[in-house]
Amino acid sequence: MSQIVVIGAGQAAASLVAKLRGQGFDGQITVIGEEAAPPYQRPPLSKAYLLGDMALDRLYLRPESYYGDHDITLRLGCRAERIDRAAKQVQCGGDAVPYDMLALTTGAVPNRLPNAIGGDLDGVYTMRSLADADAVAHEFRPGARVLIVGGGYIGLEAAAVASKKGLTVTLVEMAPRILQRVAAPETSDYFRALHESHGVDIREGCGLERLTGDHRVTGASLTDGTELEVDFVIVGVGVRPDIALAEQAGLEIDNGIAVDPEGRSSDPAIWAAGDCASFAHGEGRLRLESVGNAIDMGELLAANMMGAGKPYVPKPWFWSDQYDVKLQIAGLGTGYDEIVTRRDGDGVSFWYFAGERLLAIDAMNDPRAYMVGKRLVEAGRSPAKAAVADPGTDLKSLLQA
Ligand SMILES: Cc1cc2nc3c(=O)[nH]c(=O)nc-3n(C[C@H](O)[C@H](O)[C@H](O)COP(=O)(O)OP(=O)(O)OC[C@H]3O[C@@H](n4cnc5c(N)ncnc54)[C@H](O)[C@@H]3O)c2cc1C
Repeated sequence: MSQIVVIGAGQAAASLVAKLRGQGFDGQITVIGEEAAPPYQRPPLSKAYLLGDMALDRLYLRPESYYGDHDITLRLGCRAERIDRAAKQVQCGGDAVPYDMLALTTGAVPNRLPNAIGGDLDGVYTMRSLADADAVAHEFRPGARVLIVGGGYIGLEAAAVASKKGLTVTLVEMAPRILQRVAAPETSDYFRALHESHGVDIREGCGLERLTGDHRVTGASLTDGTELEVDFVIVGVGVRPDIALAEQAGLEIDNGIAVDPEGRSSDPAIWAAGDCASFAHGEGRLRLESVGNAIDMGELLAANMMGAGKPYVPKPWFWSDQYDVKLQIAGLGTGYDEIVTRRDGDGVSFWYFAGERLLAIDAMNDPRAYMVGKRLVEAGRSPAKAAVADPGTDLKSLLQA
């Protein structure tokens, strides 16, 4: 009977093992996870869960009983320390766990501030895991002063929660604008205005020089010369793929664990999916940090471990919740040369075009625009720009054109 071992008990792992059982794999499945919790969804950690609007058990991707019921062994609270490729074994908590096929779904690790500028002071938090969210929760007291470092989605979501809870919020972004790495200026402008209307002090083109305090952070010096008094700090300055084990095992690394179109690493018995894995895309390699990618790659691995031979076709989508705005994104905007704006009631959407080709859409409180844009992007079809911009155009007609 063959044995599949999965390292990393997160979003991709949960999809992979459910799909394996769903399509009739009857060998042994072991999932090794460093965190104590069974696989859970991370997005609410900076949204509803942080706000206190979501109970812990709703974070779990499946009830704990699911794993036992499907004969899936979870080894939680156990970091896999080493892969012995010759012996086909994983070292974990003093045991050697044998595998026939191994999947790496190790996710990503958050970047931290250097200790030299106060990154190791108490009261400085990152937001990656349930433990991180639980550790910071008690700091969200009305009137507390929080500095958020980094104007990406996690920083902005944390700012929205803090503002809603009555904290005084300052957010610094070193780049000229928030969301610069991931979105067009139109989307940055929208979210800057949204946050400012809720009293958040957004400072763009402004870095953190250093945090100050004895053991615990009490202040921050910013590159624009401001000295701030702060009660705590949230750091949202990106993540890097968790390649520690893959590197130790001598697998090919290129912007993450390099996998072939089927999801196999440079060792044919070892596969990878989710935030840690990079796949060929255009001239280079792409790594997507999103739930959709983790689910799709996890399921792809399950199919291909059983011999389906299917190539990965990414269908990028993402969302973010801030205040009463739901942002939904489909496609990848990289390489756009024009943004077409559509306004529809309270909703607005930005459509990314390269020439006449539609690449992506950012829709704010406009789920219909998002659904239509997503279907068009995935089908490789492009609507006329004038029709998109015209609020009188019935969106569905764009699908029929
Ligand atoms: C706060 C937050 C908000 C987010 N919001 C959104 C959103 O709105 N929309 C969206 O699409 N995406 C969002 N994301 C991103 C999304 O959650 C990730 O892309 C997704 O979780 C990736 O899944 P994964 O399985 O690759 O990795 P993960 O879910 O990170 O799981 C990897 C697991 O592997 C474990 N691990 C690593 N090394 C080892 C080892 N050696 N031994 C054992 N275990 C190990 C880790 O501890 C971790 O538990 C958000 C992420 C965060 C942190």
